[in-house]
Amino acid sequence: MSNLQADPAVGPEGGPVELLDGATVALGGPRGMAVTRTLPNRRRRMVGAWCFLDAYGPDDLAGTPGMRVGPHPHIGLQTVSWLVQGEVLHRDSLGHLQEIRPGQLNLMTAGRGISHSEETPAVNSGVLQGVQLWVALPEPARTRPPAFTHHGDLPVLDFGDLLATVIMGELGGAVSPAATYSPLTGAEITAAAGADGVVPLRADFEYAVLTLDGAATIDGQELKPGPLLYLGEGRTSLRIEAGPATRVLLLGGEPFGEELVMWWNFVACTHEEVVEARASWESGSLFGEVHGYAGPPLPAPPMPISRLVPRGRIR
Ligand code: MN
Repeated sequence: MSNLQADPAVGPEGGPVELLDGATVALGGPRGMAVTRTLPNRRRRMVGAWCFLDAYGPDDLAGTPGMRVGPHPHIGLQTVSWLVQGEVLHRDSLGHLQEIRPGQLNLMTAGRGISHSEETPAVNSGVLQGVQLWVALPEPARTRPPAFTHHGDLPVLDFGDLLATVIMGELGGAVSPAATYSPLTGAEITAAAGADGVVPLRADFEYAVLTLDGAATIDGQELKPGPLLYLGEGRTSLRIEAGPATRVLLLGGEPFGEELVMWWNFVACTHEEVVEARASWESGSLFGEVHGYAGPPLPAPPMPISRLVPRGRIR
């Protein structure tokens, strides 16, 4: 996290913005696919209920296995899979087998427990670019039964020069059909080169923007692919100016009021819940089985020596 200026920049509306730098992480070990993780961040863990954001690609898959994430468990969250280019095949312990392509949403609500795998399908376009997000579930949804849904038809809004696809929650009065459990927004906004437009926001939400392609000027700040620009609360609109043809991801939501423990693939309220979920995964109970993935399940890492302490959205 770095503030942009010594005197925090104050936009036309709202509070100071923060540029949250990403960390490079190799999915599936040191030889795995590289992703840029901007949530959780060193200082800011969440934007609304959004608590995890990995961006990857564009990657040329020639001579590589592509995405290979073996069966692993989740509790207490929703996984939101969104592609810019390419294909990903999802399998889960409820028996779903679903390929996604750009413009489609794969939404998995873990609730009390599910396991899944993600892979590049055998027949693919040879390129991969996308984002993997998690949404934290509040009480009582975090212990609900698991579910998976595929959404191929999402609302698209036209804000002058900007086209916005509402992936999750609400934007400008349009609501995604995807199930949500706290007030939030997730949208992909595309703009032709030189486009200049304004997106309506809600003053009671906090927001952040990630550039996926191109370069946008957001609130007067140029934003290229890499860091996440945190915009805070109190804004009723956001101006987006595209340099070249540009695609950004807009995330927002009501500031999340509950304290959470986040460890490995689990979002929980207490250290004990994480210990129990880890033991259930290691013993093969609770999380069911993922069929058809050509590879072993991912082992849970050892628990840290110190107790996991629930924390709020800001560290
Ligand atoms: Mn997962």
